[in-house]
Amino acid sequence: MKKMPVAFVGHGSPMNAIEDNAYTRGWRAMAKVIPQPEAILMVSAHWFVRGTWILDDPAPKTTYDMYGFPEELYRIVYSAAGAPEIARQTSDLLRSGQVETRIDNSWGFDHGTWSVLNHMYPHRDRPVFQISIDSTAPGAVHFRIGQLLSSLREAGVLIIGSGNIVHNLRLVDWSNPDAGYDWADAFDQKINNLIVDRSFETIIQAGSANLAGPAGLSGKEAQLSIPTPDHFFPLLYVLGASDHQDDVQVFNDARVFGSISMTSYLFSAG
Ligand code: ZN
Repeated sequence: MKKMPVAFVGHGSPMNAIEDNAYTRGWRAMAKVIPQPEAILMVSAHWFVRGTWILDDPAPKTTYDMYGFPEELYRIVYSAAGAPEIARQTSDLLRSGQVETRIDNSWGFDHGTWSVLNHMYPHRDRPVFQISIDSTAPGAVHFRIGQLLSSLREAGVLIIGSGNIVHNLRLVDWSNPDAGYDWADAFDQKINNLIVDRSFETIIQAGSANLAGPAGLSGKEAQLSIPTPDHFFPLLYVLGASDHQDDVQVFNDARVFGSISMTSYLFSAG
């Protein structure tokens, strides 16, 4: 079986779930170059809880974890099957690496998952499961969980981290849908350079409590871009699951509404 790629997707506004725009077309283009996965493992910014929880429901529900959007969005049902067997194997894999896990089916698929998969896999014909992001763990732990998950790639599992590299809702500028603040552009570009160089240590530190880290990431840019780490951490899982033989492709290299980046990455086995 061909080793599956691993992807980070900048999901942005929930409205992307139902819009046809440059970003959603970028997601569709990404899915086209990915071999057909046996199953999809989503790591969504929106399942941010006190532990590493795993969804093993054979028929996960769709969770509408956003408020005040048009009715149309609440009618989307992402009715893909779950992947209970692979979910339990994933739990065993993490436990063997000393990561505590627990099965939890109360959350289902959140909009970090279904807004993206509604475009990437609109036919809902691939089994999907999620793991949560432990809000109490520092960046290095999320990266290590990604490393532990990497063997799933050889079992045909597509790992997708869904978040945003720059994500500051407090500073969103609704009048500016197609551009970013200078600091947002600069931070996104720095992360891009670090990803291409595989200088992951600096990226891991940027996502952790002490943002005034070393080497090229100014504390101020990082603090403005990552005021809370929930949307940044999915990237660390993806980087952990990637390896130096992967080719990196960038999709949707853009900032929107000032303080959100849509930049997405696909790591494919060379
Ligand atoms: Zn989000």
